[in-house]
Amino acid sequence: MSTATDIREQVVELAREFAKEKIEPFAAEWDRTHFFPRGVIDEFGRLGFLGMCTPEEFDGMALDTVTYLMVLEELSAADAAFAVSIGIHNAIPMTMLVKHGTPEQKERWLKPMARGELLAGFALSEPEAGSDAAGLRAQAVKDGKDWVLNGAKAWATNAGTADLMMIMVRTDQPNARRGAKGISTFIVPTDTKGYTPAKPEDKMGLRSSNTAGIELNDLRLPVDQMLGDEGMGFVYAMEGLDAGRLGIGAQGVGIARRALEHCLQYTNERKQFEKPIGEFQAVQFKLADMATRIEAARALTHRAAARKDAGEDISHYASMAKLFASETAMWVTTQAVQLFGGYGYMRDFPVEKLFRDAKVTEIYEGTSEIQRIVIARALRQR
Ligand SMILES: Cc1cc2nc3c(=O)[nH]c(=O)nc-3n(C[C@H](O)[C@H](O)[C@H](O)COP(=O)(O)OP(=O)(O)OC[C@H]3O[C@@H](n4cnc5c(N)ncnc54)[C@H](O)[C@@H]3O)c2cc1C
Repeated sequence: MSTATDIREQVVELAREFAKEKIEPFAAEWDRTHFFPRGVIDEFGRLGFLGMCTPEEFDGMALDTVTYLMVLEELSAADAAFAVSIGIHNAIPMTMLVKHGTPEQKERWLKPMARGELLAGFALSEPEAGSDAAGLRAQAVKDGKDWVLNGAKAWATNAGTADLMMIMVRTDQPNARRGAKGISTFIVPTDTKGYTPAKPEDKMGLRSSNTAGIELNDLRLPVDQMLGDEGMGFVYAMEGLDAGRLGIGAQGVGIARRALEHCLQYTNERKQFEKPIGEFQAVQFKLADMATRIEAARALTHRAAARKDAGEDISHYASMAKLFASETAMWVTTQAVQLFGGYGYMRDFPVEKLFRDAKVTEIYEGTSEIQRIVIARALRQR
């Protein structure tokens, strides 16, 4: 009989092999051409990876959160742009549906998502509401038995490539602006009339992931496409973000790990002053600091994941993991470019992409400043 450890090893090995064969060799080209590899995502989904932590009764793999993060680390080491599509789908829409979906919604949306037949995303941010997400303005108004949605969303991952988006809008009275309390979540198939994704953003990094605004124009939904209770959407979004932030932590670890691996090889090969640069102690110290920070970021992220699986409230632990791992990714990739010297600044060498991909981990799913606010608030409430 397979133990939990055997299953973890097998699943992570499968993801590592998939990433090595089907993702990493193509990632630089996808990045250059902004190519969204939906076919490869679908293939990965057919192996079960679009339902990683989803319970088996809903056709998922029922993995523990640490194993899930280990898979995301492998994907991120290969291509963070690929990892973010998989991470968002698994963490946020999935968590929301598992926790708050009705039996019918689970049958209709969650099961096909877990089987890899539907790709999902999550739209909370708006052009005027990022860090202050509770200030969002998109509005749903009741019309007979339907809800009618209008407004604009910003920077939603998978917005132009997903089959389904979880969209947060106000359902309080227009202009009532009851902050977080007036927000609800809707399940929106992207072929619904009135759903229009904007042109994909031209980004610094994660260039092959799809990030786009969404126009909601008289988008009409039956009441059974509201998720959970009216007015609870912001709470559900924050629950999803706890899982999402752990995923960004794993993303930071994966990016940083791959940068270190490239540096270990390069500093053995590159010679200056008639010896490999890796023989200079200043270079060795950089490598030692990189490895130490990566190990610490992974430990912090996995510890928060274990707390989640033990049923603890992990909001500020997820923030600590995301904050530390994303700053580690940025610091390590900055050192990596430095160790590669002029070659590090060139597109032909891999650390340049890792450096660009690292930056966004300090921004999305809450900036580093917002993570510090969450952590400080939790400390003061003790
Ligand atoms: C590639 C990418 C993918 C994304 N994917 C998604 C997605 O799938 N779904 C989604 O809903 N959103 C998504 N986002 C949006 C992302 O979550 C927001 O960009 C992020 O939350 C920051 O919001 P903002 O950009 O409006 O920055 P702002 O909130 O305008 O912040 C600007 C600066 O001010 C600082 N700041 C703001 N408030 C405070 C404060 N109180 N104290 C101290 N400093 C503060 C911030 O830290 C930041 O440095 C994505 C963004 C990117 C770049």
